[in-house]
Amino acid sequence: MTEPLVACPECDALHRRRALAPGTKARCVRCRAVLYRRSYLDLDHQLALVTAAILTYMIANCYPIVDLRIQGRLNSATLAGSVLSLWQEGRESVAVLVFVTTLLFPLIDLGALLVLLLLIRRGRPAAAFSPLLRFLQALRPWGMIEVFMLGIVVSLVKLSNMAQVLPGIALWAFGTLTVLLAVILSMDLHNLWDVGENAIKRPAAVPQP
Ligand SMILES: [Zn+2]
Repeated sequence: MTEPLVACPECDALHRRRALAPGTKARCVRCRAVLYRRSYLDLDHQLALVTAAILTYMIANCYPIVDLRIQGRLNSATLAGSVLSLWQEGRESVAVLVFVTTLLFPLIDLGALLVLLLLIRRGRPAAAFSPLLRFLQALRPWGMIEVFMLGIVVSLVKLSNMAQVLPGIALWAFGTLTVLLAVILSMDLHNLWDVGENAIKRPAAVPQP
């Protein structure tokens, strides 16, 4: 049996894995890149956070973000409806960008994370574990829900001069989701390697001190 190993994400140097104190990180001896960290949150905390975020995501997308009262007429806008409006107004590229960064990527990110956490919790990560985790790492830079949230707030302030703006349920849900995602995105994915790797069968490799 070999000891659990960790490869440096920057230079591929192999290291023996050591137990870390909560809130600390291990660095590569060759290039100082962060190898893994130990979160203050344990697996059940992470699972609860991700589940809460998925529920909040659903609420955020099912209800209107704002109700606008303009000259006695009431207009409600959901996020999906806004994307559709952008598309119909001929702003296809903006519509696609908003759809991908605020609807699609956060959903895929949360879904993949939930599957990974459930796989680890079962104690036997499947063959899909490594590809899924790599996919998630590649996806991370593309979630921009906080940028979107800022855009909404700026738009609402501008709109408030022209119309009566009533914040919808989805606006509060998006605010909550932004906070939840900030916590979730701060959780290091290397930590999942750390937990999941123990149960993945790997070819024997030569550890470096
Ligand atoms: Zn390195």
